[in-house]
Amino acid sequence: MSTSKIFLTEGEFGELFGREIARITRVLSEIAKDKCSVCKGKCCREIDCGLYSEKFSSCPIYEIRPRECRFHFCHEVLDEAQLSQEDKELLETPLKDLLKDEKERNSELFPLFPQFPLDSEGLTSLGIKEEAERVIKAFEDGELDENQAGDLLKSFCQSTGK
Ligand code: SF4
Ligand code: SF4
Repeated sequence: MSTSKIFLTEGEFGELFGREIARITRVLSEIAKDKCSVCKGKCCREIDCGLYSEKFSSCPIYEIRPRECRFHFCHEVLDEAQLSQEDKELLETPLKDLLKDEKERNSELFPLFPQFPLDSEGLTSLGIKEEAERVIKAFEDGELDENQAGDLLKSFCQSTGK
């Protein structure tokens, strides 16, 4: 698997970041699920994700969301998780790698940093911006239900081969 692959299954994320980090992010993601739906995906909105709609009850491409999304948790989630010191250090490892490399080259684990791959520019370069916008509009107008919209968005993402 290419390290620059954007859409990652849980297994692919584990392959890239290691099983231990994937275990920790799984625990955090479980805690985040409820919290993110209560705050209506504040982070997704703030990062200008082109697949975001306030009407979705959760991420429409959750099973294949990018590494940036799998790795990001707010303090509320981290505080509730009460990770051990060892797990905290493990979780910080890719970020240390990123900071260390930032001046010279992008980290292997975050090759697009600081760009978010699914903002308007990212979706344009993936060639799915217009399709995604059409699906989200149809969902917001009530022409598609949440599952239909999510399935279509996932299939567009997977069709990019990235
Ligand atoms: S990580 Fe925190 S701030 Fe971000 S969407 Fe989830 S609950 Fe909201
Ligand atoms: S792809 Fe990432 S930023 Fe976009 S809605 Fe899903 S979790 Fe949020």
